[in-house]
Amino acid sequence: MKIAFFSTKSYDRESFENHVVDFKHEISFLEVRLDLTTLSLAEGHQAICTFVNDTIHEDILRKMSQMGIRLIALRCAGYNQVDLKSASKYGITVVRVPAYSPEAVAEHAFALILTLSRKTHKAYNRVRENNFSLEGLTGVNIFGKTIGVVGTGAIGRAFCRIAKGFGCKVLAYDVIENEEMKQLGVEYLPLPEVLSQSNIISLHCPLTPETKHLINRETLSLMQTGVALINTSRGALIDTKEVIKALKSRKIGFLGIDVYEQEEHIFFQNLSEEILLDEEIARLMTFPNVLITGHQAFLTKEALAQIASTTLRNLQEFEERKPLTNEVKFKA
Ligand code: NAD
Repeated sequence: MKIAFFSTKSYDRESFENHVVDFKHEISFLEVRLDLTTLSLAEGHQAICTFVNDTIHEDILRKMSQMGIRLIALRCAGYNQVDLKSASKYGITVVRVPAYSPEAVAEHAFALILTLSRKTHKAYNRVRENNFSLEGLTGVNIFGKTIGVVGTGAIGRAFCRIAKGFGCKVLAYDVIENEEMKQLGVEYLPLPEVLSQSNIISLHCPLTPETKHLINRETLSLMQTGVALINTSRGALIDTKEVIKALKSRKIGFLGIDVYEQEEHIFFQNLSEEILLDEEIARLMTFPNVLITGHQAFLTKEALAQIASTTLRNLQEFEERKPLTNEVKFKA
C-alpha cells in the first residue's frame, strides 16, 4: 500500500525505516502538516498517516474521499483532532496507536514535577555561569504529598505507580474506576474532592467536549493555594487565560505543561528567528514557576519503535481486510 505520511520529523523517518522492512508498504515521508492544500501531495496514495496537530475536518475528509483515500492511520493515541462523524459519512476508516509507551508520558509528567519542585531548570543555568549561590533554590519534597490524578487510563495508571513509589498519597478521578489502582492504594473520589485535597494535580484524561476547559475559574477556585498543576494530556483541558490569572494571584504554585491550547501554530517547529505572536504562551513563559515543553512527553526510543510497529500493523490489517484491532469508530 502507498501511504503519505504528514508532519514527519527525522526521528519518525528513522524509526519507520527500521520497521518497514518487515512490510511491503511504500511510504512518502512529508514534512508538511496536513491541510486542504497539502492533501494533494497524497494523490496516488491509498492511505494517509498523520500526527497530533494534523486537524482533519469535514472539508479534508470530503476531498480525501474524492481522491480515493480510504484510511487515516494516526501515529498517536488521542483522536480529538479528527471529525469522526464526517469520516464515517465518507466511508473513511480511522486507526490509531492506543498505547505506545504510557510510561514515557508518565515519566515526563514526573520530570516536570521534579524540575519545578527542585528548581533544577534554574540551577542548570546558574551553574553554567559559575553562580553556585543557593539563594532562591529552596524546593519542596514530593514524599508525603497528595497527588490528584484525573484519568487513570494507561498513562494515568503508570503515573499513579510512580507517585506511589515516591511515597505520595494518590487520589484519582475517572469516569471508570480501575481495580488494579484500588489494589495499589489509589483512592477514587469525585473530581471536586480530588481537586481540593491535592497538592499536585496531573491531568491524564482525553480531550472531549466534556473535558474541554476542565481546569477553569470554578475548578481552580476549589484548589489549594500553591497547588502544582501538570498537563501532559491535551492543551484545551486547561483554560489558559484563567490559569494565567491563577499564576498571577499565586493560587497556582507551579505549572508544568507539555501541551498547549494553541499548540498547533507553535509546536514541532523551530521558531527561534520568528516573532512569537501568541500572547498567552508568551505570558506563560515569563513566570519563573512555569515549565513548558513542546509536546515531547511521548518522545522516547521505546515509544517511537512502538508507534512504528503498531502503525504498520494497523496498515497491514486494513490492506488484508482483517478485523482492525485499533479502529476508532464514531459513536453517535
Ligand atoms: P486512555 O484512553 O488509556 O485513558 C484515558 C482515561 O481517561 C480513561 O480511563 C477514561 O475513562 C478517562 N476519562 C475519560 N473521560 C474522562 C473524564 N471526563 N474525566 C476523567 N477521566 C476521564 O488514554 P491514555 O493512553 O492514558 O492517554 C491519555 C491522554 O494522554 C490521551 O488522550 C492524549 O490526549 C494524551 N497523550 C499525550 C501525549 C504527549 O506526548 N504529551 C502522548 C500520548 C497521549
